[in-house]
Amino acid sequence: MELNPLLKSFLFIIGNRVAIEVGIELINSENADITDEDITENIKERIEGTGIDFEPEDSETLKLNTVRKTLYKLYSEKLAQFRRIRDKSTGWFIYYWWHEFNFLEEILLEKKKIIQEKLSSRLKFEENNYFFICKKCTQQNMKYKFDEAFDLNFRCPDCGGPLEAQDNQKIIQFLKEKIVLNEKTNIINEFKK
Ligand SMILES: [Zn+2]
Repeated sequence: MELNPLLKSFLFIIGNRVAIEVGIELINSENADITDEDITENIKERIEGTGIDFEPEDSETLKLNTVRKTLYKLYSEKLAQFRRIRDKSTGWFIYYWWHEFNFLEEILLEKKKIIQEKLSSRLKFEENNYFFICKKCTQQNMKYKFDEAFDLNFRCPDCGGPLEAQDNQKIIQFLKEKIVLNEKTNIINEFKK
């Protein structure tokens, strides 16, 4: 079973190669939800003899705990879901997992929207404020708004040097370009590359 390239890249970003292997198992078990134990065993079987080892510091090639962590990463990215059932003999919960890969494009578009909102609000902040900096302490990256600089008598609280107006046109320009670029980017094609 091959994953589509978009999904594959996204899984890799979320949880490296293990996430791709877990993704394959979730797709292979589309008709019946699968436990984390079975996912682990299936992957171990699949990578046997290939030299792939997800746990180089351990004698096992893949630990159940690694698979669980990966499944929770998929869950928090809204790409997987689970239900749990209490095992009557042991009293422990058994987790059954399934994928929600059909929502992938929606999730990516949502991410793009969030980036755009962050950039816009940063741009507004830069455009609506006039900043003052101490040129002697520039490595500290401290910026003061007009009100703050006024209260400090335009003196740097760290070294006593003068606070000077900062030209933030470059930052504004940079943010504007980023916004246009992000808007133009087809995030789905980006992941297919
Ligand atoms: Zn200073």
